[in-house]
Amino acid sequence: MDWSAADDYPDIRASVARLCAEFPGEYWRQLDREAAYPTAFVAALTKAGFLAALIPEAYGGAGLPLAAAAAILEEIQRAGCNGAACHAQMYIMGALLRHGSDRQKSRWLPQIATGALRLQAFGVTEPSSGTDTTSLRTTAVRDGDHYVVNGQKIWTSRAEHSDLMLLLARTTPREQVAERTDGLSVFLLDMRAVLGRGLSIRPIRTMMNHATTEVFFDQVRVPAENLVGEEGQGFRSILSGMNAERILIAAECVGDAKWFLAKAVAYAKERVVFGRPIGQNQGVQFPIARAYAQMRAAEQVVKQATARFDAGQACGAEANMAKLLAADAAWAAGEACLQTHGGFGFAEEFDVERKFRETRLYQVAPISTNLILSHLAEHVLGLPRSY
Ligand SMILES: Cc1cc2nc3c(=O)[nH]c(=O)nc-3n(C[C@H](O)[C@H](O)[C@H](O)COP(=O)(O)OP(=O)(O)OC[C@H]3O[C@@H](n4cnc5c(N)ncnc54)[C@H](O)[C@@H]3O)c2cc1C
Repeated sequence: MDWSAADDYPDIRASVARLCAEFPGEYWRQLDREAAYPTAFVAALTKAGFLAALIPEAYGGAGLPLAAAAAILEEIQRAGCNGAACHAQMYIMGALLRHGSDRQKSRWLPQIATGALRLQAFGVTEPSSGTDTTSLRTTAVRDGDHYVVNGQKIWTSRAEHSDLMLLLARTTPREQVAERTDGLSVFLLDMRAVLGRGLSIRPIRTMMNHATTEVFFDQVRVPAENLVGEEGQGFRSILSGMNAERILIAAECVGDAKWFLAKAVAYAKERVVFGRPIGQNQGVQFPIARAYAQMRAAEQVVKQATARFDAGQACGAEANMAKLLAADAAWAAGEACLQTHGGFGFAEEFDVERKFRETRLYQVAPISTNLILSHLAEHVLGLPRSY
């Protein structure tokens, strides 16, 4: 079955698929068992230049649009690999690119483009604030030519496998700002300089292999020159990057859905019970067919969101809808795939249960389904604000 006829970036997709073929299910199963980081896979993607897709050519990247990055991540997931290990290297630098000074960009971006420096930790979520980002409590207080950071982040993924962190911290107390989105600032934290000297990282074990952590800041000194954008305007600086993140993760979900569907279809044709392939039964066919339709619809919304982002148009609603629909499509496809496999769906060697655990995350992170629905209700439909 050829689902690729109308795919954009066919050459990029083919070369991602070739690279991913070197990292089959057994590679991921082994890592999953050991909760280990896919170092070889990430190194191969970095070497091939895929993680620098969005960095402009002037800074050593490929200068490609978001649509190309979406194609790369979709193909990674479609091949059964897991882009979550490194997808943030693609989009976190967006805040630096859009809001950093020329000096910051020429200092950091070329090294990020080559992979000499990894910027794939995004320190936003905190234990007490959760989704309510503007009530975060980590503070950064100016002290001469430094800021001093105190507080805690949670779910800071890949912090142990990153040199730099994009950190959101409060620089003006909440009660002293007019808007609740004011008073937060973004910093590029060089973790190499402060690890073990005020900065500590504690891994969190999760239901899937995700390299996520808690990060503690105790009098961590950050040079003032590492402030990205204007002090107090950090929330706005990270918002545009969040749309990119949602769109790219939606593309990954489309890739997951395609992997599950291909796997379900193949097994439904091959598995014979009661003297016929199980896929001959409509009870087996219909959930797969429905998930296929959901995937195709989500794919269109991802493309729409990507096109708006690349054209510099407002895309908050589309990015959120893409994430919602694609995460649902991936989950529907995962459910259909697992059910089609019967008992074998639970066996590690089929990879279905691993992918099933991995794709479940996208109902919750980087933004949970409820928060997307409330964004649409309030900002698109004009319903009363709920929180
Ligand atoms: C594996 C993993 C990796 C992550 N990686 C990162 C990372 O790299 N960097 C980072 O900063 N964060 C990261 N996150 C955090 C992630 O973005 C948050 O978990 C997510 O945004 C939800 O926040 P929360 O867990 O605090 O849930 P809460 O905010 O506590 O919400 C709990 C539940 O209540 C619902 N809820 C809350 N308020 C409302 C409301 N007003 N109306 C309706 N429903 C509501 C939510 O939808 C959710 O289902 C990660 C999380 C996980 C699990």
